[in-house]
Amino acid sequence: MQELLNALNQLETTMYAYRFAVGVIYVDSATVAPGGAAEARGIALGVLSEKSYREFVCDETKTLLEKLHERRGELDQATARRVQVLRKKLRHMTCIPMDEYVAYAQLTNEAESVWQKAKAKNDYALFEPYLKKLIECNRKFAGYMEPGKPVYDAMLDENEQGMTTETLDGFFGTLRETVVPLIAKVKDSAVSDDFLKIHAPKETQEALSAWLMEKMELDPERCVLSTSEHPVTMGLNKKDVRITTHYHENDFTSSMYSVIHEGGHALYELGVADEYQQTCIAQDLAMGIHESQSRFYENLVGRSEAFCEILLPKLKELFPQAFENVTVRQLYRAVNKVQPSLIRTEADEVTYPLHIMVRYELEKRLFDGTLDTAELPAEWNRLYRDYLGVEVPDDAQGVLQDIHWAGGMFAYFPSYALGSAYGAQLLHHMKKDVDVTAAVLRGDLHPVTEWLRDQIHRFGDLYDPGELLEKACGEAFDPKYYAEYLTEKITKLYPKA
Ligand code: ZN
Repeated sequence: MQELLNALNQLETTMYAYRFAVGVIYVDSATVAPGGAAEARGIALGVLSEKSYREFVCDETKTLLEKLHERRGELDQATARRVQVLRKKLRHMTCIPMDEYVAYAQLTNEAESVWQKAKAKNDYALFEPYLKKLIECNRKFAGYMEPGKPVYDAMLDENEQGMTTETLDGFFGTLRETVVPLIAKVKDSAVSDDFLKIHAPKETQEALSAWLMEKMELDPERCVLSTSEHPVTMGLNKKDVRITTHYHENDFTSSMYSVIHEGGHALYELGVADEYQQTCIAQDLAMGIHESQSRFYENLVGRSEAFCEILLPKLKELFPQAFENVTVRQLYRAVNKVQPSLIRTEADEVTYPLHIMVRYELEKRLFDGTLDTAELPAEWNRLYRDYLGVEVPDDAQGVLQDIHWAGGMFAYFPSYALGSAYGAQLLHHMKKDVDVTAAVLRGDLHPVTEWLRDQIHRFGDLYDPGELLEKACGEAFDPKYYAEYLTEKITKLYPKA
């Protein structure tokens, strides 16, 4: 047995080393690498990905994992989980015939560049045949990976283990009943956020970022912030997490909330227990849970009235003129302004899940065959009208806005909304142990992070997302907490609505 365990450790350490190297290269390319580096970097990445593929997808690995699986009764919980996760990964990597896999990689590559053109030209017809092919391929792959499972459920499980259409139908159904009518009521209320649209020099924003990271107890010895086009978190291990932001000089709140968001992701990576480092339990953390952590800090903490209380004095210090006469209430309403819009990435906290709901409904129907790609734009526009009350003027600002489908990423969007819903349920239960408002008012986020570390972070990927949430909350996932949270928030922001 000891020999098998040694071999497992060796395999995982090797895979960790490849992942570490590729991760550093990725962060480097997004932050400081010169623009001309792409081609030569591609050669290095190609070699690394082929080597790591061969290291993992081989008879030796298969035999090792099968031997360990046969003796799973003798394994401790963490080792059993590792074997389970790696067996599934190996099965998924080998079930697609090589020629189909290569053709698919080529297809997504082409589809992404066609999508870019289609978006620029506002020409959905250009992209449509690619989308059709991508859906066909993914339908086929889901059948290879999880034969017998409904296609969309199989794809959901890839991104969010254990998630099903049944659960999501219930989740989005709850949102449709509660949030959609509320938004219709408040969407024309006037809220001034002009004082946020000031010119904010990069240096001032850097000072704000440093303050935020200190408040979040992000240890600079283990987590560094740099800049990139799009904010991102790369967790290499629990002593080395890289986060990035982008400073827009005419929109400092964009960077401010991205630092808090990525900081929330970082705390998760930094909090995984020592014993799981360099194993798959510390990597491949479930996306919905990851988003629950980032959104917890960004929205549940960062957009709370209590946080505005401690943020305002800092803003008055950094931008004395612009914030001289601003009150906490004004700041709170401005950073939470509810405004149904066309673009998902610019949406406010309350309308955001409705953007996801549109995508979920359409994906589900594209894969169960009740919606044809030719009808997609019209359906997209109809749902935006029904749920958000906005008219989509063209496909570039409609169905073509996100890159996800062009990259073959289906059943991926729901995790974004699930993250917020998990967060609301966690907050409800956290409040039984921690006076969250009092802690935030003191500017002391330690008890909040400690609770999350204890209930979520330290376990890494030891459990499926649903199990982990159930362990932390003492009950299964329930969307009612999110619906209640959003309802309460809208009522607090717009008491007259
Ligand atoms: Zn995120």
